Amino acid sequence: MPKAPALNGSPANRLLASLPAREYQRLLPELEPVTLAFAQIIYAPGDTIRHVYFPNDSIVSLLAAEDHHASLEVGMIGNEGMAGIAVFMGVNTSRTLALVQGAGTAMRMKSAALRMESDHVGSFHRLLLRYAHSLLTQMSLSSACNRFHTLNSRLARWLLMTHDRIGTDEFRLTQDFMSNMLGVRREGVNKVAGELQRNKLIRYSRGHMAILNRPALERISCACYGIIKEDSDRSLDKG
Ligand SMILES: [Zn+2]
Repeated sequence: MPKAPALNGSPANRLLASLPAREYQRLLPELEPVTLAFAQIIYAPGDTIRHVYFPNDSIVSLLAAEDHHASLEVGMIGNEGMAGIAVFMGVNTSRTLALVQGAGTAMRMKSAALRMESDHVGSFHRLLLRYAHSLLTQMSLSSACNRFHTLNSRLARWLLMTHDRIGTDEFRLTQDFMSNMLGVRREGVNKVAGELQRNKLIRYSRGHMAILNRPALERISCACYGIIKEDSDRSLDKG
């Protein structure tokens, strides 16, 4: 079972936790706890975005879908962020597919409430601006990463980013999902995941992934992981 979101204590979502307590209290009536299921679609390209989501221990992936069979992850949103940043920027639809990559809980807010509160609460507005910038960094680095870095360093980066957000060493992950996230065929994913498994960095079987040696994953990951993490952590600094 996913852990319950904190309703009255400090929020599990780090973006919400960065708000001054008084302003978080102001947002609280607008926040509804929800459970997100593995592979649930939050919004599809062209859909009107009715809610924004602040993940607690769930992960939402932003996918550029080429067609029904091929896609590529262009952004990952967990407890450091919010799914639906387009709404904050004054747009109510998105070109990307927002899909639940890690099941768990989130707090959601109606899009209209998000607009209203971000217009009225200065610290919330500034926080969302900084987050939008860090997501932009993540998305632009990801696109270069997907083009220039090797598959095993990309898989390591992706596993580390997932591990950071989901907060457990074991999580559900199908081969189809991995190949869709990384934009490569299943055979390619099998090959590099098999190599990581033989070297005891991960254990992977029947749709379950276990992280066994995180420091070794950090060593083989490309530098993108550290840059994205540093930028994201900095966006959450109060100020
Ligand atoms: Zn990279």
